[in-house]
Amino acid sequence: MGSTACRACYGRAGHLVLDLGEQPACDYFPPGDDPGPDPVYPLQMWLCSSCGLAQLVADSTVPEEPRGTEPAALIAQAADAVERMANAGFLPESGVVAEYGSPHGGSWLPLLARCGLIPAHDGEPADVVLDYFGLMHFANQSAALAERVARVAAGGVLLLQYHALDAIVRCGQWNVLRHGHYAYYSTTALVAVLAEHGFVPRMAWHFELYGGTVLLAASRDTDLHGEPSASPVQFLLSEDARVGVCDPAVLSGLQRDARAHAQGLHDWLVAQLSAKRTVLGYGAASRAVSLLREAGADRALLPAIVDASSAKQGLRMPGTDIPIVSPAQLAARQPDAVLLFVKDLLKEVRAAYPEVEAAGGRWVDAEALDSLSG
Ligand SMILES: [Zn+2]
Repeated sequence: MGSTACRACYGRAGHLVLDLGEQPACDYFPPGDDPGPDPVYPLQMWLCSSCGLAQLVADSTVPEEPRGTEPAALIAQAADAVERMANAGFLPESGVVAEYGSPHGGSWLPLLARCGLIPAHDGEPADVVLDYFGLMHFANQSAALAERVARVAAGGVLLLQYHALDAIVRCGQWNVLRHGHYAYYSTTALVAVLAEHGFVPRMAWHFELYGGTVLLAASRDTDLHGEPSASPVQFLLSEDARVGVCDPAVLSGLQRDARAHAQGLHDWLVAQLSAKRTVLGYGAASRAVSLLREAGADRALLPAIVDASSAKQGLRMPGTDIPIVSPAQLAARQPDAVLLFVKDLLKEVRAAYPEVEAAGGRWVDAEALDSLSG
């Protein structure tokens, strides 16, 4: 990381584990008639040798952070999480909650209100401090975490939800790396960083969302109420160790995954074109941006990407000439295949657009390039 220090522990030793070269800002969608070229910026992941936090090296982009439509899978996961926390006794009967949400949208406050928790006033200490995919958006991880732990009232709990690094590594999700997302947490790194702030993990819940998300409950090390339910946390830590989330050689596997995945997508698109099969994309997601760019995909190979967000329709994907169109195009163009860039949307899109399969088309996972229908 050159002269720069770790975003969480200020350590200077570490390894560059993933280098995607120059990439466009994945959250700036240019107008469809903007010919480009779009500005590009280095996109690299660095692994701190001291605390184990995987992080974005530099970020010179100015994130636009549009609030998209929240996928049903995320909403379902939130409800599941709140129910599991309440059942495990991790939510007080009453009290105040401070929520640090994701700039991409979504809030757990309505769910928590049903559990008797009311929102805290600005800056007021809270019995429950919840960060829901928010922390990763802060360049200074140490300062952002310090702010959250300082909000936790005496005897209160800090809840952090994150896409787990072991899942990213296991599933080869190299394209989660994006500008504006400064940290990629393993439970191991987060526990180490929390310790620096005097917090210890008490409980963890695992969800299938994105291949593996974790909700970690932590509290002050001086606030121990009875025995901590450490076993779920221990299980995640042992999984981290098994996968090797702190090993730069293991994380460097993401670089190989990137090459193989991009080449696979390119070859698949060429094969569809040669066979005169119509293909559309679905989901103008940030993770599609580096994938399409690495795959050398343009509108000749992928004529359009459908997105339900009306704010994105009429724009194009960053770094390519592929336009973003409305879901009406699924019926109009009758594609043989729809490449789904966000696999968690499958249930939702199959229900919303039965016309795809009714016309003989199939949903194809853009990660694995296998058919998702049936
Ligand atoms: Zn560090």
